[in-house]
Amino acid sequence: MSDEITARTLWTGDYYNEGSGKEGLFDKLKEECGVFGVYRHSDAASLAYYGLHALQHRGEESAGICVSSGDEFHYHRGMGLVKEVFNKDLLASLTGDIAIGHVRYSTSGDSKLTNAQPLVFKYRDGDLAVATNGNIVNALQIRQELEQGGSIFQTTSDTEVVAHLIARSSKDLVEAAKDALKRIVGGFAFLIMTNDKLLVASDPNGLRPLTMGRLGDAYVFASETCALETIGAELLRDIEPGELLVLDKDGLHEDRYTEEKQRKALCAMEYIYFARPDSDLNGANLHAARKRMGSQLALEAFVDADLVTGVPDSSISAAIGYAEQTGIPYELGMIKNKYTGRTFIQPSQELREQGVKMKLSAVRRVVEGKRVIMIDDSIVRGTTSRRIVNMLRDAGALEVHVRITSPPFKNPCFYGIDTPDRRELIASSKTVEEIRQEINADSLYFMSAEGLIAAVGGHNEQDYKGGLCLACFDNDYPTQVDFKGEEKFGCSC
Ligand code: SF4
Repeated sequence: MSDEITARTLWTGDYYNEGSGKEGLFDKLKEECGVFGVYRHSDAASLAYYGLHALQHRGEESAGICVSSGDEFHYHRGMGLVKEVFNKDLLASLTGDIAIGHVRYSTSGDSKLTNAQPLVFKYRDGDLAVATNGNIVNALQIRQELEQGGSIFQTTSDTEVVAHLIARSSKDLVEAAKDALKRIVGGFAFLIMTNDKLLVASDPNGLRPLTMGRLGDAYVFASETCALETIGAELLRDIEPGELLVLDKDGLHEDRYTEEKQRKALCAMEYIYFARPDSDLNGANLHAARKRMGSQLALEAFVDADLVTGVPDSSISAAIGYAEQTGIPYELGMIKNKYTGRTFIQPSQELREQGVKMKLSAVRRVVEGKRVIMIDDSIVRGTTSRRIVNMLRDAGALEVHVRITSPPFKNPCFYGIDTPDRRELIASSKTVEEIRQEINADSLYFMSAEGLIAAVGGHNEQDYKGGLCLACFDNDYPTQVDFKGEEKFGCSC
C-alpha cells in the first residue's frame, strides 16, 4: 500500500495481521493451524467451539467446524476469529455427536474462504471431512499425479490430496486412509471424519503435536492440552508418531499406518514459542519447560544486570527461570497490548514504523537507569529485536543484554510453520556478533542445542536429539525435503 494512505483509511484487502511478519516489522514466526475433534458427545459443536477458542493462538485467519449427525454433515467455516465466525444460532444448527474443527493461519496469498477447513467432500460411501495441522512436503507431486488421473481439486490446500487419495481408493475407509498416509511425507496431524467414524493420525516423526482426552464417554482430540483443559476433559495421552486411531460404533481402535521406525522429532519451536504455557507436551508443562530454558540460558551466558525481563508473552516463563537461577530480580519491563492482534485499518508508513509500540510498550519506571537482560524466544529477521532493544533504550535502559531461548534460526521450516526465505533469516548469513550489532544490543547469546534438549527434558537417552526436530537450527531435517523447484515453507492446510 502506498505511503499516502492514512491511518484513517479503511483497509479493504486481506486482514492486516500484526505479527505476520510480511512487512518485516513483526518478524515473529507463525504457527499455522490448530485442530480439535470430538467423538460421540451430544453437544459436539459447542465443545469444538470452546476447544478451538483455546487454540486460537495457532491460527487467527479462519475457523470452521463440521459435525456429523449420522445421516449428514452440518458445517460452517468463515474468515476471522472463532468468536467472529460462530454465533449461538450457527452453533445450534450444527447438530450431531461427531465433530472436527480447525483454526487456520496462512500465508497471505492463500487467504481465502475456500481453503478454510475442515474441507468437506462427497465420496462413494457418503460424506468426508478433513482437518489438518502441518505441511505435506510431496503434496505437489501427488496432486499433479492425481490431476493427470482426472481429479479436480476444489482448493489450493494440500490437505485435499489426502481426501482425493482416500476417495479414489477401492479399499475400505481405514485401509484407504492408511495407504494415503503412507504416501505423504511431511509433518502433520490429521482428523478425518465420515458420517459415523473419526480417524486421527500423526506423521511418522510426530512433528506436530496432537493429544487425546476423555470427557465422560466421549473422546476428544486437540493440538494442545490447553483445549482439553478448557472443556474439562481428562488428558489421556499424546498421539504417537505413525499412529492411526479409528473411532467407530465399537469404540476406539488403536492402530498404525506405518511400522517403519523413524526418529521421533517433535517440533522444538512448540516448546520454545508456539504452544500455550498452560499446555503439556510429551508430559512436560510448557511453562515449566520454558523456565528451565531460562535457567539453562543463565548457566550458559550469565551477565550481571539490575533486572531480567521477558518479551511477552512467550518469553516471560524463561525470564522468570533466568531470574531464579541468577538471583537477579524479574521485572515487568514490557507490556503487550492484547487488543492489537487484528485491525481493519491499514496504518500509514509513519505509523507502521511505530508498529512495535502499538503492540508492545516498555515500562519506563521499571527500566529507566537500569541494566536490563531481555529474554526472547527467537530472532528471525532481526527487525523486531532491534525495535524492542531500541524501545528499552528509549525508555532509559542503560544496557540491554539479549538472551535467546533457541539456537540461531538459520533454515526454513517445511512442516507447517510460516518461515521466510532462507536469505531473510538473519542468522543464515550473519555471525552472532554481527547480529548483536544489527539489533543494537550490548551482548547477545543464543541457547545451545544441547542446552535446549536438556531443558525440554522428558526424553530417553537413546532418543536422537532428545526426540526433537531442530532442523531450522541445524539443517538436519527428519524427512526428505525439496530445496529446489516448488519450495514450500508455509502451511499446506
Ligand atoms: S524445522 Fe523448526 S519450526 Fe519446523 S518443525 Fe522443525 S523445529 Fe519446528
